[in-house]
Amino acid sequence: MSYFRTAVDQMTGYIPGEQPKPGTPIIKLNTNENPYPPSPEAIAVLRQIDGEWLRRYPDPFAKSFCQAVSEALQVPAEWVMVGNGSDELLNVIVRACAEGQDRKIVYPMPTYVLYRTLAEMQPAAVVEVPYPADYALPIDALVAAQGAVTFIASPNSPSGHAVPLADLRTLAQQMTGILVVDEAYVDFADSSALPLVSELENVIILRTLSKGYSLAGLRMGFAIAQPSLLSGLFKIKDSYNIDAIATAVGTAAMRDQDYKTACAEKVKQSRTRLTADLKNLGFTVLDSQGNFVLATPPQGQAESLYLDLKARGILVRYFKQPGLDDKLRITVGTDAQNQTLIEALISVLS
Ligand SMILES: *Cc1c(COP(=O)(O)O)cnc(C)c1O
Repeated sequence: MSYFRTAVDQMTGYIPGEQPKPGTPIIKLNTNENPYPPSPEAIAVLRQIDGEWLRRYPDPFAKSFCQAVSEALQVPAEWVMVGNGSDELLNVIVRACAEGQDRKIVYPMPTYVLYRTLAEMQPAAVVEVPYPADYALPIDALVAAQGAVTFIASPNSPSGHAVPLADLRTLAQQMTGILVVDEAYVDFADSSALPLVSELENVIILRTLSKGYSLAGLRMGFAIAQPSLLSGLFKIKDSYNIDAIATAVGTAAMRDQDYKTACAEKVKQSRTRLTADLKNLGFTVLDSQGNFVLATPPQGQAESLYLDLKARGILVRYFKQPGLDDKLRITVGTDAQNQTLIEALISVLS
């Protein structure tokens, strides 16, 4: 007999992007981290952490952080649930809501690969609905799939497109089950689905400090939904899922919205330049609302370019899967990093 449940034996497991050792001289454009440092206010709090705090258990609900979210986003603090990264919240949602053939997980493709991993782990049946070439949301097919949980990443990764609020509203109104709008990249986008949360009881918005707030290492994400929806999720999460250090540092970062917005503006300007430079080299580039672009090289030689760039100390993301294996997902770095990338591409392509 195996040590593991059948579902675990059969699943692949999520494979994160490579993380070279800190200090390695590498330009890292593969996991959509923010190129700018975290808020100075957050770093100041980190420096002042008193060892004595750590003797005690942390606040199980990270209430100071919920309060900061409430003030920043104008939502009641009781509508906020904090997670150890938004990945933990995705996990909690699947464990609370999905199971077997009758409580399916539904999402459009291509999208964040973790959704499938979580479904395989549960296990819960999955319905993957392909996006059309123009990335219009396939609402009818998603509704027909009858998910207990439907995941929509907006802006989506790896395509970078944002799903219009009106489409998300129509989907949420017509479908059964809950609609999870994963807004990991919303800080770089022009719009958000947040207004839907007060309109509709079955909508949950996920946000993270990993991308917009430059705090991927802190592991902090949050959900916003009506308390009737959060109540089931609170039963499932670990009691002390957010440590005391993350709560203090994350609260300071959330209060410093001006800093976050200023960094996001710089990334958006660099995204415009990077998109234009790649197009000049013959790449096809989708307009992106995230801090990354999905780019198809002139001859579709994505895998060899990925390897050539890696040999020159530049990491980008290559997905060896149908529909994506002729493309590269490139995180927007600083202008200097992006320029180094472009120069490397010029030399490799010539
Ligand atoms: C990065 C990312 C996340 C994970 O964020 P964490 O808060 O670091 O766990 C979730 N969803 C999508 C689509 C992402 O790209």
